[in-house]
Amino acid sequence: MKPPVFKELCDIPLRPRVGISRCLLGERVRYDGGHKNTQVIAEELGTHFQWVPVCPEVECGLGIPRETLQMIGTPDTPRLMTSGSNQDMTEMLLKFSDFRMRDLLTTGIHGFILKARSPSCGLDDVPVYQAHSLVAHGRGLFASVVTTHCPSLPVEDETRLQHRVVRTKFIERVVAYQRKSMT
Ligand code: SF4
Repeated sequence: MKPPVFKELCDIPLRPRVGISRCLLGERVRYDGGHKNTQVIAEELGTHFQWVPVCPEVECGLGIPRETLQMIGTPDTPRLMTSGSNQDMTEMLLKFSDFRMRDLLTTGIHGFILKARSPSCGLDDVPVYQAHSLVAHGRGLFASVVTTHCPSLPVEDETRLQHRVVRTKFIERVVAYQRKSMT
């Protein structure tokens, strides 16, 4: 029979590993050196999950501070452009995102929380412009790669998670996903 202390440790379930846009944890990785610390996520959801922080823009080589990025072009296939110097960052960010997501899936991930409205991380609400006019709202490039690589992965953005019902459902979905991945 295991000594009681070991039995207790063995009975503690591993907390699910959840990817998260790094700026939501208070890290100063935004274009202007700021962050978007979101208390309810860091404090409440942080007690349920192990965080796996990702900032696609910084990790793919863009610095801090950096030019802001915008989605430009047709709503279905917009390009990720720097807003001042008009450089196309699409391929660089897609290549990084593909590599990072494959790595996350190999090491094990059970959910993702993304920063809303970001041209890289935004889920469904990223403005797409054509000739300086807003033509649609779409998905950020990193968020597209996350959802394409693993369509069944529970994914939410931080604005929806402000609602208690959405938070509770998200926790349930993540725990169910983790359980399924362990069977
Ligand atoms: S929204 Fe995404 S890309 Fe932008 S700072 Fe936050 S983690 Fe980085």
